[in-house]
Amino acid sequence: MRRSRRVPPSAGAPPGAILGEMPSLLDRALNAGEAKKFKTYQRRVALIGAFEAELEHDSDAELRERMDALRERARDDEPLDALLPECFAIVRETGKRTMAMRHFDVQMIGGMALHDGQIAEMKTGEGKTLTATLAVVLNSLAVRDEESGERKGVHLVTVNDYLARRDAEWMSPIYDALGVTVGVLQNMQPYEQKQHAYACDVVYGTNSEFGFDYLRDNMAKDLSEKVQRGHSFAIVDEVDNILIDEARTPLIISGAPEQAADLYVKFARLAPQMVLGKTPEGMDPRTKKQFMADFDFEVDEKHKTVSITEQGVAKAERFLGIDHLYRAENGHLVNHLIQSLRAESLYKRDVDYAVIDGEAKIIDEFTGRILDGRRWSEGLHQAVEAKEGVRIQEENQTLATITYQNYFRLYDKLAGMTGTALTEATEFMKIYELPVVQVPTNMAMIRADRNDQIYKTKEGKWSAVVTEIGARHENGQPVLVGTISVEVSELLSERLTKRGIAHTVLNAKPEHAAREAEIVAEAGQPGAVTIATNMAGRGVDIKLGGNPDHLVRLELARQGVDSSDAENYERRMSELFPDVERTVQESREHVMAAGGLFICGTERHESRRIDNQLRGRSGRQGDMGESRFFLSAEDDLVRLFAGDRIYKILDRLGGVDDEGNEEPIEAGMLSKQIEKAQKKVEEQNFLIRKRVLEYDDVMNEQRRVIYAYRDDVLEGQSIGEEARREVISVIERTIDQYTPGDFVEDWDLDGLFTALAQFFPLDLGPEELKRDSADRASLTDRIGELAMERYNAREQALGEELMGALERFLLLQIIDERWREHLFDMDYLREGIHLRGFAQIDPLVAYKNEAFTLFGDLMNSIWTDYARMIFNVQVNVEGENGGGAPVPAFAAAGSSTRAGRVSYSGGTSAVGAGAIAAAAAAGGMADAQGAAGYAEGAAQEEAMPVVEQRVVDDEHQVGRNDPCWCGSGKKFKKCHGA
Ligand code: ADP
Ligand code: MG
Repeated sequence: MRRSRRVPPSAGAPPGAILGEMPSLLDRALNAGEAKKFKTYQRRVALIGAFEAELEHDSDAELRERMDALRERARDDEPLDALLPECFAIVRETGKRTMAMRHFDVQMIGGMALHDGQIAEMKTGEGKTLTATLAVVLNSLAVRDEESGERKGVHLVTVNDYLARRDAEWMSPIYDALGVTVGVLQNMQPYEQKQHAYACDVVYGTNSEFGFDYLRDNMAKDLSEKVQRGHSFAIVDEVDNILIDEARTPLIISGAPEQAADLYVKFARLAPQMVLGKTPEGMDPRTKKQFMADFDFEVDEKHKTVSITEQGVAKAERFLGIDHLYRAENGHLVNHLIQSLRAESLYKRDVDYAVIDGEAKIIDEFTGRILDGRRWSEGLHQAVEAKEGVRIQEENQTLATITYQNYFRLYDKLAGMTGTALTEATEFMKIYELPVVQVPTNMAMIRADRNDQIYKTKEGKWSAVVTEIGARHENGQPVLVGTISVEVSELLSERLTKRGIAHTVLNAKPEHAAREAEIVAEAGQPGAVTIATNMAGRGVDIKLGGNPDHLVRLELARQGVDSSDAENYERRMSELFPDVERTVQESREHVMAAGGLFICGTERHESRRIDNQLRGRSGRQGDMGESRFFLSAEDDLVRLFAGDRIYKILDRLGGVDDEGNEEPIEAGMLSKQIEKAQKKVEEQNFLIRKRVLEYDDVMNEQRRVIYAYRDDVLEGQSIGEEARREVISVIERTIDQYTPGDFVEDWDLDGLFTALAQFFPLDLGPEELKRDSADRASLTDRIGELAMERYNAREQALGEELMGALERFLLLQIIDERWREHLFDMDYLREGIHLRGFAQIDPLVAYKNEAFTLFGDLMNSIWTDYARMIFNVQVNVEGENGGGAPVPAFAAAGSSTRAGRVSYSGGTSAVGAGAIAAAAAAGGMADAQGAAGYAEGAAQEEAMPVVEQRVVDDEHQVGRNDPCWCGSGKKFKKCHGA
């Protein structure tokens, strides 16, 4: 989208005036603490200005060459700060040439604040979109991966898809001219486009898109499925909305457990058929090795473990109708079998657990009390549920989750911009370490903010609001009415309709963003009345008199001019432009005479910031404007926090006029009272948010560890050595378990050998056993050695390359499986932690402790599983696809074990209104059973109150040869449809 060259009404000061402007900038800077920083910024503004005369003589190509030279210097590790003045100057000159917008000096300051990783508070209409280009171009010179030398890209975060697209297109002339590539993320975009977008120097996209891509990347089974290239610098537009209002909204990718619940039930049926037995006591290990058990499994009551005999494995295979239980892709079945056997034979109802209200709850073995909020892990709890025939709590299993807060903390450098940050400066600093810099406005602000008018009743308020709107409307003044909910908007709309006042209603739903932008763009026309819930049409500038650009487009659309024929379109545009601009100019004068845009607030929001946002839509760039809030003593906020006092005053003072209308009181003192109430609520909300974040931090640490692990595996790093070490630890732990104390007599050597046999058959002679059993360390050494011999033998048999692939594949599969379960356990723990009657213990502390234990268990269980699999797993060297590529053969099988629908949920909600669904995605369904489950699951999700989830059934849309829904870029049949 190329803008024709024209000078906007509020173009910046001519170059010569820069120095003259300086002192006033400083004067307008808010506090003394900022003065020092501003001095630096001010010096830089002068430096930038000094380039101007020189750059004006450069050709476009020369400007580009200058930028390329800067890029070279950045690559040679010259600090960006040193390049800043020239870079900003070039961007300004380019803006002037390509978009007829010359970055104002205050915008330069905003750009510096962003570059320094701060929040630039710049009022609505100050041109934050253009400001961001400065920091983007500068940082795009150097964002690169230290190791690969590859550039990582700057992420520009917007509140909706519409703004991502608009801003990227709008600013593209600058980027194009300077050789900075621009990408745009959109919801439901094909994988190729997404990957392409991320390969660019700057990517525009919504917070939820960036967040979900991160989560998806960390579910990838192969490096090529990843789209993001690291997190080096993000600029978050409307930063308060994203980092404060939505901070508590977690992004969740959830998947149906597909047949997982069924599997538990199936195994619960198998378990009772399995015959329990016992290897004769004291049998010498040599004979033990030859001993053919005539039973299916054996248990160890004390350690609550089971081991399965060959006969047992064969029985299970028959029952399941599979040929090999120990195949890489059957790894989860082995675990299912073990857990079902444990549930069946080692866990007793009313001793180990109780069934209460259809839920299996753990009984604390020491106190005999019910342990709320605790579940056994590794699928044991589900196995117990299956055994008891109660609901298996695995529905809507969380596959991956993160809060915005923690997502944005991933960035090496984070910056933000918004019109309203100052009231929340403490929170930004404490939670994100983001300082707020208040950037002065380009032109002095002359909007008149009136005191609140307070009515005794809601009825009195609403009739006053309607009268006020009517009067201003007749006078040709545009009115923007803010409401706190869609309901209230509709109520008001009815009243206005009754009075015959034409108006438009907006409700801030993300899917309406584009249409609302169109409407808001015209909200400054004479007499326009626009009702908007909070934030509707945000990011769109209200120009007094209307938006010529937009009007021209409307007119062209009306005439049916095809926008894909760029040349013709541009020509028609410039033909129409002068006329439209003249009309707009006349309208503008008309509106100015009527007092500019009038903001009519109909209730105070809980947070002052949101009120300020509403007010800020008027009086931009030195425009005339006026704002007033109409309240009643019956409004929730007033009632709850200042009700009594205000009510008393109203009782004393408030009367009715001749026509029976209530007379309001209007006093600065009352407005102050209300602000105080707001501050109280703000503080409360901050504490709640902080608390949530403290809980989430625990999880965040764990997520980082697991994701880093995954990355190592995906990047193909050899894990052989680590795996060997961990396998030895698993053996050590097992041995420690069975050899308590210092006396050999107390040791349970029989149990030990049974336990170790789950990994591999032990080849110890009786002599060795006797000699070694005297001392735990040498026993451990000896068995460790045996394990390594086996391990090495496997490697030799498979070859190093295949073994490496197998190791990575197994580990990845196990990590993902265990991590999912862990997420579920953590959720459960968090929900239950408050139910525990801890004496004097902060639930957060208890949560941290237990989460720590759970995580330790998780890591141990990952490697125990691994040890169990690596020695036993069958590998088809031929591969199903007829030889050649055995490794991908099992990798593909692995991803398909978890095929199922995946849904995404997260917030793009307006404040307080509860989270609204963000992104939807598709899921491939393996079979009809899955489809039935889908219908059920969907019904269930609709009932979920807080986070709305959307699931798209793509089974019927994805053909076998279509690209897979997971975004891997492979065909569906080769990937999740395999
Ligand atoms: P914000 O995001 O700060 O509310 P926008 O980025 O939407 O503001 O810009 C508001 C308006 O100001 C836009 O119409 C834009 O064209 C105009 N504008 C911004 N910067 C300049 C400039 N340097 N010169 C002229 N017009 C500008
Ligand atoms: Mg904006």
